[in-house]
Amino acid sequence: MARANLYMNSNKLDYLAGYFGIGGKTDTGGFDLWKRVCLDNDQEALDKMIEYCENDVVILEGVFHKLRKLSKANIHYGALWDGKKFTCPECGTAHVKMRKRYTTTTGVMRFNMKCTLCETSYTISGKQYQDLLNYKMLNNIK
Ligand SMILES: [Zn+2]
Repeated sequence: MARANLYMNSNKLDYLAGYFGIGGKTDTGGFDLWKRVCLDNDQEALDKMIEYCENDVVILEGVFHKLRKLSKANIHYGALWDGKKFTCPECGTAHVKMRKRYTTTTGVMRFNMKCTLCETSYTISGKQYQDLLNYKMLNNIK
């Protein structure tokens, strides 16, 4: 079961790594190598597998960061949790500070915010900024 899962995950990782253009993966020998490690107790196969796993971790990390960046653009964690768009998109807190206010080329007022917990910077609308001020007042957040 574990072997089958690992094999499948490797395929997915391979696909993702290829998709994001993150480093080539060590040739694993796939299921045969696993069989040699697990069933035949093959030392050489085990060494190969370890090398392969170490490479996997590096690639996995790269894939993780890419996915994180992608999901950042699409998922607002704060809004996801409690429907408040003014909270930090990364950790969802309302403990955020306004860094600067500016007007876009289309004349819309925007507020550049910074999370005091995770230091994520993000931008909200004037309406959302008002909501934030109200929310902070109601919840006694400075
Ligand atoms: Zn945050």
